[in-house]
Amino acid sequence: MSESPLLDHLNTHQREAVSAPPGNMLVLAGAGSGKTRVLVHRIAWLMDQHQMSPYAILSVTFTNKASREMRTRLEALNGASLRHMWVGTFHSISHRLLRTHWQEARLPEHFQIIDSDDQLRMVKRLLKQHNVDDERWPPKQVQYFISGCKEEGLRAHQVQTHGDAYMGKMVEMYELYQLACERGGLVDFGELLLRSLELLRDTPPLLNHYRERFAHILVDEFQDTNTLQYAWLKLLAGNRECMTVVGDDDQSIYGWRGARVENIQRFTDEFANTRVVRLEQNYRSSSAILEAANALISNNGGRMGKNLWTDSGRGERIRIYAGFNDIDESRFIADTIRELVNEHGYSRDDVAILYRSNAQSRVLEETLIRQGMPYRIYGGQRFYERLEIKNALAYLRLMNNREDDAALERVINVPARGIGMRTVEQLRERARYGNLTMWQAMSDAAADGALKGRAATAVRAFSDLIDGLDNDTAGMALHELVEHVIHVSALREHHAAEKGEKGQARLENLAELVNACRAFSQGERMDPNAVSEGAEALEPFLAEAALDAGDHEAAEGEECVQMMTLHSAKGLEFPVVFVAGVEEGLFPHKMSLEEPGRLEEERRLCYVGVTRAMQRLYLTYAELRRMHGKETFQRPSRFLRELPEELLEEVRLRGQISRPVSTQRTTPNRRPSGPRQEGVDASDGMPALSLGSMVRHPLFGEGVVINAEGQGERARVQISFEGEGDKWLVLGFAKLEVL
Ligand code: ATP
Ligand code: MG
Repeated sequence: MSESPLLDHLNTHQREAVSAPPGNMLVLAGAGSGKTRVLVHRIAWLMDQHQMSPYAILSVTFTNKASREMRTRLEALNGASLRHMWVGTFHSISHRLLRTHWQEARLPEHFQIIDSDDQLRMVKRLLKQHNVDDERWPPKQVQYFISGCKEEGLRAHQVQTHGDAYMGKMVEMYELYQLACERGGLVDFGELLLRSLELLRDTPPLLNHYRERFAHILVDEFQDTNTLQYAWLKLLAGNRECMTVVGDDDQSIYGWRGARVENIQRFTDEFANTRVVRLEQNYRSSSAILEAANALISNNGGRMGKNLWTDSGRGERIRIYAGFNDIDESRFIADTIRELVNEHGYSRDDVAILYRSNAQSRVLEETLIRQGMPYRIYGGQRFYERLEIKNALAYLRLMNNREDDAALERVINVPARGIGMRTVEQLRERARYGNLTMWQAMSDAAADGALKGRAATAVRAFSDLIDGLDNDTAGMALHELVEHVIHVSALREHHAAEKGEKGQARLENLAELVNACRAFSQGERMDPNAVSEGAEALEPFLAEAALDAGDHEAAEGEECVQMMTLHSAKGLEFPVVFVAGVEEGLFPHKMSLEEPGRLEEERRLCYVGVTRAMQRLYLTYAELRRMHGKETFQRPSRFLRELPEELLEEVRLRGQISRPVSTQRTTPNRRPSGPRQEGVDASDGMPALSLGSMVRHPLFGEGVVINAEGQGERARVQISFEGEGDKWLVLGFAKLEVL
């Protein structure tokens, strides 16, 4: 036993870090080595041994979820409520400072935080108001420029334009934007931090107050701090030696958002007498998982170099699953989770499914819903609840039923078409008095000339748009119809105008909605004999989407599978982890392929994913995936090839025989032709079919097998017929001849 129970269950290096005198310290260590644990114990230690009050400690975490977890862990250690301790993200702490000192910060008492949507709307308005050519200065770029400047701590007057006209205009827009924010009492995310930095810098008594108050400052995930956050910390610390930061250069995954991994080096250079502690023992993962992670990350250059080892056993091999397509991949995941829960004593809470991009969650969610498996999405919304999806569905609902007031109100001015609040209010009034629906009120108002001028024209254009959709889409398949609606309503353009990743994600989700429709009308989601096409399928599709959105939310406290992007999994751990979609172009993401720096960031993201797993890790990919409305053949990710083969095992669905892994095998970039091992069982007198088999059907002619599921009589195969499209057939009835 050590002198304090706070040092129990810590190794020598962790103890050194926890119990070091309260000077500057950097803990540089790999995943799962106990950095966060050290941070928590150090806070408890400072309170216990150095009599620091909770009030004197400032602890910065990367997400709000991490803050809550840190507080819980601390309360468990400390045995008291720590409500008064400041634990939060940079944003939440800045917000708190500004709320408390709004006057010194020259803000109105009830200033509002605006998100990136609001920000963009404002930029657009300003561009228009000042007659700026929005082709030369696209709103998204202006917004990106403004946020970038703020992240670097720069106000408009501090930006160097070097006499360049383009830059000059950007700076002017920044200035105008800021003025508009000031007038409206609005604060964007970047502003929160910059404003609070300026508040402290320009109000010496306040700075002194907080310097005196915060005797020690601790920061988790330090590798992902940006320039402004670094400056903020430095200002608050001053010349005092009072900082503990922990981080891992191999887990720096926010470079694309301005994070500077160099801040780790800078810290040791600029903060006096920094003690550097390295932790090398990993306590999280089995050695198979850890070895795989080490091998993967060794492909990156310029690392600070860390050695991670574990004395836990070898554990299970890492399982690789190649799905025929994304649906098959998601079924494998759901089936495996069920097996782990039913036969291996895991709870659903133990399991996480991680993916690179948000749009991937749709197919996974649908499979989990269909199988009645509760899940929860972290740091993101469920698919059918996302803004862009709700907008698109609202158009479809309105096509289906003009009297759907909620849908009408949602999109009457989205994208903006000049129907202002006043007009909408006028229509509401009319609907109320006449006991009409909004659509009827609109028609009546148009007929009797109650609306005037621009409003009248705009409302008529809207109702023509909706009516026109009916005619335009006659005879279209459901997915074509939806594609058309997204295009003609200008929703795609509308969402494309959003800044960076967010806009990109919204477009991917819209494309994913088209995929969902295609799958729906191909009978993926229902009895293959009950397929309805085109507009006919709209109503059942909308009904299913509504159910998906509403019904299946896991009840509070119910055990459920956790789903999240790889980015939001940082810092967390789970006994069982699935990483889905480990494919070239998806992960690593195609946008990273041209730039070596970004590719290394993707590899670090993969390292983060792998190191979330404690006992079992599954890496899955699909050979065929619907993306951006097209089916494409996918190749397994290069990251799979970077893992030592002896640690891997390729798995088949239950009842099928596993075969030795070979991630080197190439997937054809055209339709598969040769016989393959996987496919439908040849038992029970059924024809032996494999993915890629050529077959003849008495009615549909020749085709190739592109998907299969089930066994024996009830097995179904999906066949792509020349000229007839893709069809699902039940093997027992289909009278297929193998060619
Ligand atoms: P990441 O880089 O992923 O954020 P980390 O370095 O912050 O990881 P922690 O989350 O603090 O690592 O610890 C990983 C796991 O190892 C946790 O479950 C933690 O409780 C456990 N752990 C850490 N140190 C020890 C120890 N000395 N003895 C037993 N378990 C430990
Ligand atoms: Mg951590």
